Amino acid sequence: MNIDNCPRCGRIYIKNVIELCQSCVKELEHQYEICVKYLREHRTATIQELSDATEISIKEITRFIREGRISIANAPNMMYPCEVCGTLIREGHMCDSCRSRLTKDLMNASKEAAASEAPRKDSAGAYRAVDKLRGQ
Ligand SMILES: [Zn+2]
Ligand SMILES: [Zn+2]
Repeated sequence: MNIDNCPRCGRIYIKNVIELCQSCVKELEHQYEICVKYLREHRTATIQELSDATEISIKEITRFIREGRISIANAPNMMYPCEVCGTLIREGHMCDSCRSRLTKDLMNASKEAAASEAPRKDSAGAYRAVDKLRGQ
């Protein structure tokens, strides 16, 4: 049996696919219903208003949105924080600036990887040139 601490409440539970203990699952289910109910009545609510009104943390609400359980398509003011900097966004995991920074970082990393491979290629080329000279 696979036993672990619930990442949400820290209690020991039997590991499952959703990686939450039963009491957290029940609590989240309850919180989810409260959120949905509130949003149905307050379509223009922001995530802050929803969190204040329901006493459910923005983190949990963000989780519902990311899981696709709460749809923000019909809630024009509903946004959730960027995973990296906390800027409010409506889609994906990151805001545009974090995404472009990450893309740049990735490009730099692959450039660096290419650069560290380059000397080996050069020296191989140099050897070939030497071989050529020897052959002549
Ligand atoms: Zn738990
Ligand atoms: Zn960001």
